[in-house]
Amino acid sequence: MPPASKSGFIISVAVPVPLRRAFDYRSKSDIEPGSRVLIPFRNRQLVGVVVPLPPDKSVRKHKNIIHVLDDQPSISPTMLEFYIWSASYYHHPIGEVIHAALPPNLRKAVRLYDPDTPEYYMQNPDIPEYETLDTLSRAPKQEQLFLSLSNGQCLRLDEIEKLAQVSDIRDVRGGMQSLIRKGLVIHSHRPVNGTRPFESTLNQEQSRSLSKIKSTEKGFHTHLVHGITGSGKTEVYLHAIHDCLNRGQQVLVLVPEISLTKQLVERFVNRFGDRVHCYHSGINKTQRYRTWWKAGNGTAGVILGTRSAVFMPILNLARIVVDEEHDLSFKQMDGFRYHARDLAIKRASLQNIPVILGSATPSMESMQNARSGKYHLSTLRKRAGEANLPKIQFIDLRQQSTRYGLSPSLISAIKKQLERSQQTILYINRRGYAPIAECPNCKWRACCDRCDAYLTYHKTSDRLCCHYCGKTFETPGICPQCRSELFFRGAGTQRIEESLEKLFPDASILRFDRDRVRSFRQLQDTLDAINSGQADIIVGTRMISKGHDFHGVTLVGIVNADHGLFSVDFRAPEQLFQDLLQVSGRSGRGQDPGRVLIQTHHPDNPYMEMVRTQDYDLFFEACREERKLAHVPPFSSFALWRVESRKREDGFRFLRKIKQYGDSLLASMNLEAVQIMDPVHSPTPRIDEWHRSQLLVNATTRAHLHQILKHWVCWAENTSTSQKLRWSLDIDPMEMY
Ligand code: ADP
Ligand code: ZN
Ligand code: ZN
Repeated sequence: MPPASKSGFIISVAVPVPLRRAFDYRSKSDIEPGSRVLIPFRNRQLVGVVVPLPPDKSVRKHKNIIHVLDDQPSISPTMLEFYIWSASYYHHPIGEVIHAALPPNLRKAVRLYDPDTPEYYMQNPDIPEYETLDTLSRAPKQEQLFLSLSNGQCLRLDEIEKLAQVSDIRDVRGGMQSLIRKGLVIHSHRPVNGTRPFESTLNQEQSRSLSKIKSTEKGFHTHLVHGITGSGKTEVYLHAIHDCLNRGQQVLVLVPEISLTKQLVERFVNRFGDRVHCYHSGINKTQRYRTWWKAGNGTAGVILGTRSAVFMPILNLARIVVDEEHDLSFKQMDGFRYHARDLAIKRASLQNIPVILGSATPSMESMQNARSGKYHLSTLRKRAGEANLPKIQFIDLRQQSTRYGLSPSLISAIKKQLERSQQTILYINRRGYAPIAECPNCKWRACCDRCDAYLTYHKTSDRLCCHYCGKTFETPGICPQCRSELFFRGAGTQRIEESLEKLFPDASILRFDRDRVRSFRQLQDTLDAINSGQADIIVGTRMISKGHDFHGVTLVGIVNADHGLFSVDFRAPEQLFQDLLQVSGRSGRGQDPGRVLIQTHHPDNPYMEMVRTQDYDLFFEACREERKLAHVPPFSSFALWRVESRKREDGFRFLRKIKQYGDSLLASMNLEAVQIMDPVHSPTPRIDEWHRSQLLVNATTRAHLHQILKHWVCWAENTSTSQKLRWSLDIDPMEMY
């Protein structure tokens, strides 16, 4: 209970500012934790959330809350506990954590509303359209709205908003209400999709995995389903979800951004009808709010979302599924740097429910937990249905030379594919035309003026482009130092595309990278083009390798696999193994058997051999030994301080102070299991005119790490006040750059 006095209550509020504390305000009435309030903060008005934290006794004067936005808390006690836990684990400001967890609509000073009444609108069929338009001739806005409903369409508010191109949903709602009052529009309900009968039968491995999952219906358990690509993991989840829905419960399914495609949604909708609701960046705010609302009141059966859906309030949550749990996109790389898989597991434990992780290439962390008995493991070793795993072969680049990336063997394999009208994917994890623009005479190379990085040549725009800061430059053509003609070295997607166009002028070639596929919509269209067989050859980056279930692709060519074999990052071999196996997994998923050809200079490398034999277990053992010896995760816990400064020395100086203070904390707390390394410049030392350096902390005991970080981060917050310096702390960093 907050202290009450004659002048009211003191309320603790989480405010969306980068400070690791809550702020106290005065209120006339008591306010339940989880309620949103509008508060004055410095010279602004912000939306904050009341949190169950004790007020700061040292503060005497309090500002008043402007008003309470929620008549009932928009955040439940369970969710609030989860958010507070997340903030403390990642040592991130609670106000920013809650802000990120709310759907965008509720971050503003609007009241909660039920998005479902009334839901659909259509023109009144009893009045002819021309008659109506006559009536509306002096209300152009309403006319516009009315016309968006032409041809007897039955649409939702947000759809009308889009069609009528009205910028504010409130105008749409008001306008529709006027039209209803005039009797020109009626609101109705669209026929509801039913759940299809459950036809598929699971094979033996799938059934075994499902019964293992079902044996732990109650309480917190973590399952790891390790199933090769196409082994039917999704089918297992669908069965498990079906059971929950039958009991009137809800399930949260988290997938990587790129795999949340129409194809996947359709698969879920085919089974569960309109009980499926999505939450991701490809849908608009109104739709996101609807999902949030329906999850919270229990009417959404399946919530299918990306990373941030882990924060979704769900009334009867019975189970969480994290598909492709190894995927890096579950980790937020800036701001609040959480890992959605790890938070999903924490959430399941707080809510005492099971969680299912699935992957063809589980992360070292998860597999280590499975092997040590912390997780329940089930393994699917065969592809489901008729399909088999593709055969992987190497093309030894020491024996064949390539022309712009393609070896004779790969070219002749593609030719055969075209003759048989089968589809091919060529994978190269580099966009643009060439990664280096160089003078053959004096070796001058084009660099970015804001970053320590070479510029990539993009032929489509005929510009040099920095892949770090995004700045583009005119292509000089000749060397600015000695005036020789520039040479473009190496190959990216555009160059491979060009080579293919020359080699196979009649083939239809489709590029699949971030320059070509920029929006959710374009992603859908491109996937449709592949699935309908319009594309013969697809040249793609890592984007193409994930999750997609193409049935016509029978050859995957990996243009260069060596990138990453000799990286300094301890996670590089894992990343390489995952990437290569995932992209290989796109081959032969239909009726015809698939092949994979990998171009490499290092066919003898032990890791490459494990890729060829697709031997995850062997890979896991090798990688495990390496990590154990090096004393890195999962055998220790990392935290990484990152500092960016305008002046090169400032950042380094600050990191040295951080280290000093950390060392003194360690000494005073007598913690030996934590090791603080020396500050180093980041592998790309300057990006966008910020100099970057970092400091790694490696701890044997996670609890000790958090014990020191709590004090450490407070100190850093109070010490760095300069505008010319930014710092962040990354708990369990996934990328060391
Ligand atoms: P994963 O999620 O492991 O990649 P999916 O669940 O997408 O695998 O299954 C791969 C393909 O096999 C899909 O086209 C799916 O419809 C099919 N499939 C899955 N389970 C079975 C089964 N038991 N019998 C026949 N086909 C199946
Ligand atoms: Zn030159
Ligand atoms: Zn740059």
